[in-house]
Amino acid sequence: VKYFDITPRLSSKIAVFPGDRGFSRSVSLSFKKGDHLDLSSIQSTLHVGAHVDAPSHYHASGKNITECGIDVYLGRAQVIEIRKEKGERIRVADLKNIRIEAPRLLFKTQSFPDPHQWTDDFNALSRELILELAQKGVRLVGIDTPSVDLAQDAELESHKAIYEMDLRILEGIDLKNVAAGLYTLIALPLPIEDADASPVRAILINKDLGIP
Ligand SMILES: [Zn+2]
Repeated sequence: VKYFDITPRLSSKIAVFPGDRGFSRSVSLSFKKGDHLDLSSIQSTLHVGAHVDAPSHYHASGKNITECGIDVYLGRAQVIEIRKEKGERIRVADLKNIRIEAPRLLFKTQSFPDPHQWTDDFNALSRELILELAQKGVRLVGIDTPSVDLAQDAELESHKAIYEMDLRILEGIDLKNVAAGLYTLIALPLPIEDADASPVRAILINKDLGIP
């Protein structure tokens, strides 16, 4: 069994949406300073690195992260590779030669190549695509960019379609070293009370573990 860690490393260098609170870690105690422990705490947006959005992030009546359960974040997943012009949404036509074989679909776009460097011309999903994928039994969409919508899109058309179709979202994954194909995804959110999202340690395993 081989596994791929698709989680960018968290540090103060990781890029977050402009205006959001970046990641920082402060050290309370340290062996180096003569303390009897290493002890630290973090401050961060929950939308940092690989993370899952709860529906309450994009809809006033949406479920929060503890209400989402974990089933959807664990099981059969398919990585597909799509190359688009910078700043373009992925359309149904872009998937015309791809057969969907898993309820979790992860998009490798390579349009946000450096997790330390914010750029706002990454690719995103589209409303028509979300509706089509939901029809085909997809329950979770993942993408290697900070958002399923374009950086400048205040309307959040993909988030809205995802809410309507009751899909789940995994953002900020790093698929650089992962080839298209079928895997088992593990990307479990922390049960943070009332929260709109959670960072996850996301991995792909190159084996069908029998989890649908
Ligand atoms: Zn998010």
